[in-house]
Formats: sequence, structure tokens, C-alpha cells
Amino acid sequence: MTMISVENVSKQYVLKDKEIVQAVDDVSLKVSEGGKIALIGPSGCGKTTLLRMIAGLEDPDSGRVLYNDEPIKQLKPEHRGIGMVFQNYALIPQWDSKANIGFFLRLRQREEEVPERVQQIAKITGFGIERILGKFPKQLSGGEKQRVAIARAFARDLKLLLFDEPFANLDAKLRQTARVEARKLLSKYPVTLIYVTHDQQEASLMADRLILMNNGCIEQVGSYQSLYDAPANIFVAEFIGTPTMNLFQGEVRDGRWYGADFGGYPVPVDIADGTLTTLGIRPEHIVRADDLQVIVKQTTPYFAERFLLVDVTTPNQMWQVQLPLETQLTVGDTLTVSFDLTKCHFFDTQTGERFV
Ligand code: ADP
Ligand code: MG
Repeated sequence: MTMISVENVSKQYVLKDKEIVQAVDDVSLKVSEGGKIALIGPSGCGKTTLLRMIAGLEDPDSGRVLYNDEPIKQLKPEHRGIGMVFQNYALIPQWDSKANIGFFLRLRQREEEVPERVQQIAKITGFGIERILGKFPKQLSGGEKQRVAIARAFARDLKLLLFDEPFANLDAKLRQTARVEARKLLSKYPVTLIYVTHDQQEASLMADRLILMNNGCIEQVGSYQSLYDAPANIFVAEFIGTPTMNLFQGEVRDGRWYGADFGGYPVPVDIADGTLTTLGIRPEHIVRADDLQVIVKQTTPYFAERFLLVDVTTPNQMWQVQLPLETQLTVGDTLTVSFDLTKCHFFDTQTGERFV
């Protein structure tokens, strides 16, 4: 069953100097009951605005949001069962953690259920939230505040969970722990999830479908792997995957691609002679082999990920190659490398769309 239907939703903001910002531009999407999606994209692409319209906190200029086939605005907020967690916690400062967590149950005169909920949540996450129940928000660390905010979202009859960059304020290690805890809660409680983040790794962990936005529009929808393997256009290709995909300008002649520094690579689809075509290849799909000569400009070891990222140059361009961490290289060295031709992408330079 479709739980959330976003139909051709748009939203503009008019700034003080009358400048118009098209925050969300004709977006449509569906989330089925129990589905877990992530809205991702660079800062300012419209994720929060879209999420706020889905939550019913903001009205679209045009289009509509349906919640189980009903306009969300027709449902009383207390009947929506929407839990929300934002980056800035939004806890009530004069209340201790217990009161904050019990907020929604207390509204329904079911406050006596709070201790049991808290116990359940602590058991699932492994985080001893009982220990901070008597503390007020200003006495809590960022990580603790976020646990309280998450517990509050789950301490109710929850159907839809909306997360907006919930862990963005936490340090890397804590963010990792918090993600694991949130995933445990999500696997125990079968809720529908819409998760906003600019972090592709976090998105791929929390959701099974990614919706990649740019300038208020959806660029591509799919699993992380499908966006990685078959990016619809140059924007997706550059956004998904770290380190970033290398892009080379060139054109196609007689079924082969030629760039400024190298070329002759066969293109596996029909592209008309003279078409400006961008070749894309990820640094991890380049190997050491006797093909292209490059000069090493910089080496950056990634110890956690176990690879060496090497900035290299050919006469007209700087690009990157990913090699095993233990590779011994010095700046100025000459290196020969080769592209894995099965991993090359070809894009229409003018439209950005992928040919293959
Ligand atoms: P994201 O969450 O992806 O970073 P937002 O939805 O917050 O993006 O913002 C989308 C665009 O709308 C941005 O250009 C932002 O500056 C603008 N915007 C968001 N909220 C407002 C607002 N209340 N008033 C004016 N402009 C806004
Ligand atoms: Mg945002």
C-alpha cells in the first residue's frame, strides 16, 4: 500500500530583495508502507523543504501530499503518527528527558506507558537511556540529546518517521554508533522512513531507496548500487561514490572516443560522429598497466579505507587514480596506468545525460 504520495509538489521562497528561490520544483514520489527512502543531495537542494511539506508543516505552492490517499492537511496532527527528528534536537528545555520522551504519550493520557517504552528502546539500542531520564537538555551532550529526541519519536504510536540530518552535529565516531542504534530501532519497529541527509554513506545504510535531488528536482531514484553503477547523468556520476569519478571531455569518431590527452576507446553504443562526449571513470577502476603515461602530483593515503589516492596529470588535465595503500610513489614519478574499459561511462557533454 502506498503510504505517502507526493504529487507534482513545488515550493518557492521570495527573499527580501524579491529574489525568488525555487526550493522544490515539481517533485513526485511514492513511498509504500514500511518503505525506507533517503532524500539526498547537496546542501540547499530542497531536501528539508520537501520533508517539511511531507510532514504537513509547510504548504506546497502547487501539487499535493497524500497520506494513505488522503490530503495530509485533512488529517489531525495527532492522527498522523508522524515522528520527527531534526539536526537541532528540538527538545523542550524546561523538561527533563523523561518528560521530553513522554510528550506524545502524555498528550493521550498514557503517561504510565513511558517507562516501558524507555526500557524497550534501551534494550534494543543498547544505550542506557535510563541513566539520563532525570537530566535537562542543557545537562546533556549532543549525542545524549539526540538519543532523547529519537526515543521521543519512538515513544508513540509511530507510523511514519521523518529524519532530517539527525546525526549531522555528532562527531564521526558517535555518528557511527547512533546510526547503528537507529537501525536497530528501525528493524524492530516496522515504520515507514524518510531520511534526509547529504551523506551518501549514511543514506545507503539507513534506506533501501535513494532519491537524489539537485536544485529542487529529482535527478535519480534507486538503490545506492544502481546509482553508482548506472548514474543517469553527470551530476549523479559526480555526487555518488568517493573518491569522485574522473571526467574527460572529448568526442566520438567512428565509434571511438577521443580526448585531448588520450583516446581511441571503443564506445559500446551508437553515437553520431562529432558528438561532444564526456568519458567518466572512477579512480578505483584504473589499474597499473602499460597504457597511459601519467605524472604523480600528490599522494593521499586513506588508512581506514585501505587505499592510496594518487593525483596525476596528463598534458591537459589533473585526475585521480586509486591504488593499493602500500604502493610506493613519490611526487614527480612517472606511472603507467590503464582504464578498465568495461567500467567507462559516456555522457552527452551538452545535456549531461548518460549514453551508456
Ligand atoms: P536542503 O535541506 O537540501 O539543504 P532547503 O530545503 O533547506 O535545502 O533549502 C532549499 C532552498 O530554499 C535553499 O536555497 C534555501 O536557501 C531556500 N530556503 C529554505 N528555507 C527558506 C526560507 N524559510 N526562506 C527563504 N529561503 C529558504
Ligand atoms: Mg536541510
